[in-house]
Amino acid sequence: MSFTYHNPVKIHYNTSLENALAHIKGELPSRILLVTSRGWLMRGIAKRIESALPHARIHIISDITPNPELSHLQALKAKLSGEQAIIALGGGSVLDSAKFFAMQGSISASGGELHINHQGTKEQGRTQEAKNTAQNMEGHTPINATINANARLDSSVLADMSFSTGLVRGKSPLNLQRSALESKRNITPLSKAQNIGTLESSELNLQALQDSKLKQDSKLGQDSKACKAHDSGLHTSNKGTQEGYTQEGRAQDMQSGRAQEVRQEPTALPLFAFPTTAGTSSELTQWATIWDSAARVKYSLSHPALYPQMAAYDMSLFASLPREVLLHTTLDSLSHACEAIWNKNANPISTHHALRAIELILAYLPRLLGDLRDCVARECLVRASIHAGLAFSNTQTALAHAISYPITMESGVPHGLACSFSLPLLCECIIDEAAKSTLEPYRAEITRLFERLGVSVRARDYGLDSARIEMIFERLNARAKNGLLDIERAKEGLKASAK
Ligand SMILES: [Zn+2]
Repeated sequence: MSFTYHNPVKIHYNTSLENALAHIKGELPSRILLVTSRGWLMRGIAKRIESALPHARIHIISDITPNPELSHLQALKAKLSGEQAIIALGGGSVLDSAKFFAMQGSISASGGELHINHQGTKEQGRTQEAKNTAQNMEGHTPINATINANARLDSSVLADMSFSTGLVRGKSPLNLQRSALESKRNITPLSKAQNIGTLESSELNLQALQDSKLKQDSKLGQDSKACKAHDSGLHTSNKGTQEGYTQEGRAQDMQSGRAQEVRQEPTALPLFAFPTTAGTSSELTQWATIWDSAARVKYSLSHPALYPQMAAYDMSLFASLPREVLLHTTLDSLSHACEAIWNKNANPISTHHALRAIELILAYLPRLLGDLRDCVARECLVRASIHAGLAFSNTQTALAHAISYPITMESGVPHGLACSFSLPLLCECIIDEAAKSTLEPYRAEITRLFERLGVSVRARDYGLDSARIEMIFERLNARAKNGLLDIERAKEGLKASAK
């Protein structure tokens, strides 16, 4: 078995806002954008952050609506100037909006897709201090795992390694990798977007290395000082990064001495996330969902640079969640977990997280809804959303989410309901034997959960009729294809429940 699991977000669990900020204070730049909701602002969240970061200049955006609109976000983003890092505190819409602001360059839509115009962003709107800070932070996000049971470093892994927004430097690509492999040491990547992790291999395929994109396309540069070995592994210096960043789009190929073009990838401001709902898990993914309700389009903004640097979970921020929001966001988590299992991108690590999320939700959601003061149950549901996030951050979502967007767009059904009411039906439509047997012990309990919670699983209760279901399935987005599901059977099942 061979698979790759990747999530670079540093998690601080069961901490306080102040403690988490103290943790990153020394590395934060002076100009910070705080993205939050009006409700949190009224509860004094900005004052708490200002007290914790007395030297920071904090610009606040609190004008965030549920299902954030593209035009609104574009207008807000156009007014930003000079912010060097983002603190986002709120639910999924706040976190998704913060990612929109974090992305460097302008973002526009055409042909049903979002486009990031990052040309020239290397120097625009990004001060030297911001660069330094971003780089400092990037050095702290090395959580990647590439597991290859065949113990063979092949060109696909190497191609992955060369993909990113950042630069890797060392004596040479070859030497860096060889010494890592020979010594079994870790390589600490400079950028959170880099897919380099611990390589455990007893066999180095030098031909693959030489043939790989690493040599042809890499952004690897020549700076023997930039990589220094410590007892625990290989670490990169900020000096090296900074020099690499400011190179004029070119890097030297160490082995050939030839100058090579460096692809300019979009970059993003460092983002520090404080989720206040346990559902979207946006703090653990590289995606943001942006809406254009006038054009009836839902966009997915997606880039590895959009993984937050940190996700900090302060339980007191979850304490005031109304019953309905709690229900909807947790059902969203349940959907993320199920979709991560019936997914062609699933791997054993993502499935492990997904199952833990399902177990926690089945056990603690009814309990918390029975007593909203139950701190143990609330904490378990926060953990469930973390597990679900770590699961679907690697797989994406699938059919339950694909059908949900038009339902939310056209009927205003909250996302957590729109993406979850079909779960009991979809549990019956799994075509992959492994996924089916993985979910089998939970199938009946998932159906019963909806009964216990009084959440309808009938399509007609979400404004759907047979014709609309037909239309939704005709226009399914690419995510639907991730599902290891019998789509025709799911469609007929939904139609039957629409009568
Ligand atoms: Zn969702």
